Amino acid sequence: MEKTLIVIKPDGVQRNLIGEIISRYERTGLKLVALKMMQADENLVEKHYTIDPDWKKNVGTKAIESYEKKGLQPPSNDPVEVGEDVLKRLKIYICAAPVVAMVWQGNEAVKLGRKICGSTESLSAEMGTIRGDYSLESYQLADGSERAIVNLVHASGSVEEADQEIALWFTENEILNYKLIRDTLLYDKNWTI
Ligand code: GDP
Ligand code: MG
Repeated sequence: MEKTLIVIKPDGVQRNLIGEIISRYERTGLKLVALKMMQADENLVEKHYTIDPDWKKNVGTKAIESYEKKGLQPPSNDPVEVGEDVLKRLKIYICAAPVVAMVWQGNEAVKLGRKICGSTESLSAEMGTIRGDYSLESYQLADGSERAIVNLVHASGSVEEADQEIALWFTENEILNYKLIRDTLLYDKNWTI
């Protein structure tokens, strides 16, 4: 069964949205298999965002496209340069205060994790997603203040990324393997009440 890493970033904790964010994952039927509140350090953030060697380039490309779509000038036209700046800012953001790290497990957990979280820029994220509902953040607002996009939550982008991220944030024995009575209803071929 697929697993995904969800991290409530420092702004989610500071805004008292821990319960709200957890309940959005909980109500889908995903199973919470690991949970801890912790203080991240720069080393963890660096490792987390460099798991994918193309992350810097991809982040930069996404940011540049978003500026261009709005008819605006991006801070730089070099995607890698933009990505490097974002990583520096992410270290400050994610390490600023405690975070809540979780592993959620279930059918298509990674895809569902992203769907619930919404797209990177809160301003463009759909209503009904965590980022769309609880944040007004935009690329311009963040870049204008030279900080990372403050968007409440991290959700793994792919199954491979999720597996590596989970191994970074949790030890094997922090991830629990247990049954929920509900699982029969969600996954068993034959069930009766
Ligand atoms: P995510 O998977 O939706 O979280 O987005 P990415 O993996 O592309 O980027 C990781 C995080 O970096 C985002 O959640 C934001 O906090 C931040 N970020 C991404 N792109 C930018 C950007 O262009 N500018 C700034 N200031 N922050 C960014
Ligand atoms: Mg990502």
